[in-house]
Amino acid sequence: MEAATFCCVQCRLLQPPTTACVECAAPMTAPVELVRELLYYRDMRFNNHRDWGMLTAFLAGSSLALPILAPLAVGSIIALGVHKLRGEARKRRFVGIALPSVVPPPGATTLHGIARKFRGTVASVLDEQPVLVEHAVVRDRRGSVLLRRSDAAPFLLEVEGQGPVLIAGPARVVAPNMLAAPLRVKRGDPRLSRMGIPADLGLAGELEVSSIADGGTHLAVTGVVEEEAVVELAFHRDGGRIPVMRGRAGAPVLVSDRRLIAAGLL
Ligand SMILES: [Zn+2]
Repeated sequence: MEAATFCCVQCRLLQPPTTACVECAAPMTAPVELVRELLYYRDMRFNNHRDWGMLTAFLAGSSLALPILAPLAVGSIIALGVHKLRGEARKRRFVGIALPSVVPPPGATTLHGIARKFRGTVASVLDEQPVLVEHAVVRDRRGSVLLRRSDAAPFLLEVEGQGPVLIAGPARVVAPNMLAAPLRVKRGDPRLSRMGIPADLGLAGELEVSSIADGGTHLAVTGVVEEEAVVELAFHRDGGRIPVMRGRAGAPVLVSDRRLIAAGLL
C-alpha cells in the first residue's frame, strides 16, 4: 500500500506523512483527502474564529500521533469541524494562494556550481526521469497556487575553486521554468497522481515543473554551510568531513538555475 500524501494547509505543499511541514514548519499537515475542504477558503480566514481555532488546534494536536495510526478517526473529527464551516464557501472551487516565498536563514551563503548525483535521484512528476531537485506547482487560471510538490535527493555541488559541497535536506527550486510552457492538467492526469493528488479531488489547472538534473550547470544554491561527517565519503580526506548545506523545516535550501532567470529577463 502506498503511503498517504499529506498536505500542508498553510503552504499547499504535498509531502510524505509528517508532523510538521518540511518546508514551512507549520503543524497544519494532514492527509490531503482530509484537508480538501480547507482548500475552498481564501487565505484560511473564517468568519467564526472559534471554529477555525478549534480546527487548527485539532490539526496541530493530531499530527503528534494520530494521522498515521488512525486516519479514519482523524477524518471523522475533521469532518465534524468542516461541516460547521461548509456553508461559508460560496463557490465550490478551490481557492489558490500566492506562491509562498522562502527567505534564506541568517548566515546563509550562495554557492555557484554544477550539480552531481550523490546517492540517488528522485523521479520527475513529468515523465519519471531521474532528477535531483524538482518543484511542481498546479496553478489556477489566475496563476494562484492550488497544490504543489517539492522533492529533492541529496546531491553534490561542485563549487568552482572550492570542491564539492553536499546539498541535503528540504530544497526548493526557485527559478521559474522558462524553458517549458505550463501544461493543462485535469482530473486523472498521471502527472497529478505522481504528485500524490487523488483523482477524486477533481483538481485541474496549469502544471508548472522546474527541475534540476544531474550535471545541471549555472546553479546558485543558497543555505547555511556547516561541516558534517558523511559516511560515504569517510574513505578519503578528513574522515569524510565535508561542507554540507542542509535544508531544514522552515528554511529549505534554495536552488536556482541562473540560466533560467536570465532567460526570464530577456
Ligand atoms: Zn507548509
